[in-house]
Amino acid sequence: MDFRLTERQRELIDGAARIAERDLLPLAADETPAGIQKLRRAMAEAGLLGLNMLEEYGGIGLPLLDTLLVIETLQARASIIGGLAHRTSTGAVGAIAELGTEAQKARYVKGVCSGDFGIGIGITEPEAGSAATSMTTRATIEGDMVVMEGKKQFVSFVDNNAYTLTYCRFGTSGKPSDIGAVIVPHDAPGFSHSKGGLNMADELLFELYFDRCSLPTEHILLDGNAFGRLISVYNAERLGSMARMLGSAEASFNLAVDYAKSRRQFGREIADFQGIQWMLSEMKVKLEAARLMVYRAASNAGHGLPNPTETSMAKVFTAQAAKEICDAAIQIFGANGYMKEFPLARRYAEVRGGSIYGGTIQIHKNMIAGAILGRSNSQWRRDKPKG
Ligand SMILES: Cc1cc2nc3c(=O)[nH]c(=O)nc-3n(C[C@H](O)[C@H](O)[C@H](O)COP(=O)(O)OP(=O)(O)OC[C@H]3O[C@@H](n4cnc5c(N)ncnc54)[C@H](O)[C@@H]3O)c2cc1C
Repeated sequence: MDFRLTERQRELIDGAARIAERDLLPLAADETPAGIQKLRRAMAEAGLLGLNMLEEYGGIGLPLLDTLLVIETLQARASIIGGLAHRTSTGAVGAIAELGTEAQKARYVKGVCSGDFGIGIGITEPEAGSAATSMTTRATIEGDMVVMEGKKQFVSFVDNNAYTLTYCRFGTSGKPSDIGAVIVPHDAPGFSHSKGGLNMADELLFELYFDRCSLPTEHILLDGNAFGRLISVYNAERLGSMARMLGSAEASFNLAVDYAKSRRQFGREIADFQGIQWMLSEMKVKLEAARLMVYRAASNAGHGLPNPTETSMAKVFTAQAAKEICDAAIQIFGANGYMKEFPLARRYAEVRGGSIYGGTIQIHKNMIAGAILGRSNSQWRRDKPKG
């Protein structure tokens, strides 16, 4: 076991930081869809999209740990930059790379890596949040078309993506085995979405509507028996979001250190007070401990899929640590930390979502307990049919 980063990994981090600060930050200020598309193209040219996608599909071919190191570095510069690296390296594109046909990989993975378009992921429904397998969005095959009916909610980045990988039911048994996924273009007949609602981090989350949304069957990624496989691939996306939490927490920590050395009260730097020093120490310990858990899960995955329990344990710890680090940074800044003109409130909001999306921390604790006790740990009422 060697916990030091290799020279190559350090170069990767330094290179990503240099490009972000020199070329990407000026573009990142424009968060309109047109501005984000420009940023996406610039990142593709700089080799910062599709970090762990295969080179034959236009990716960079990095192992998962190196991918996360780059995402974390970019996120510490700006969330929109870290987010694009994350969304193009894991998530929907990861599912297509792992489970898609050759034609789907050639079209969608290549398109995402080249910055032509983005693909989001639609799982959550009004009555199917943590209980995702209760989803009711249905896909019916009619000849050589697949026809979809239903609704999704809380889907991220829809206005900046051209497609949503939509989880849906292909059968009528009501069991998880009905679940598959369809790659839905946003200009498909019968597809529409809401204007979006703003979340705490000032990002839009959307509802998606499928009203006899009809597509050729080649848009089907998997037509059932897929939930377990989709979620296995999704663990890489979960680690990517943890890398983003680490990046936001690191940025908050660095700002707090600088502020503590420059803000003076009682005739001295606030960094002179032991109360502040202990806060900084605790922040650093939490940041490094979270890194160890995330990096271990990623390192053990290599170029493959992460272990689910290592992922869940890293998620529970990192989501909590990142909230505490960002909250402490706000405290060190005093009222300035609470003001929107400083970046700390936004950083806190960015990491706060991490306890909810990608499986809430309570759901991950259920899964960890299941692994400890060697049980499937079903949460379903025993007198009700499973959804
Ligand atoms: C910033 C953000 C981005 C998102 N982006 C997307 C996206 O792109 N695509 C998408 O499909 N979804 C997305 N989501 C939705 C997200 O996946 C869901 O919010 C999440 O799965 C939780 O579902 P819910 O909000 O309905 O909460 P609920 O499931 O209603 O849970 C409410 C509370 O009950 C707890 N709870 C529920 N069941 C249990 C249990 N068995 N044991 C213990 N506690 C339990 C939960 O932990 C939570 O505290 C996003 C959410 C956020 C916040």
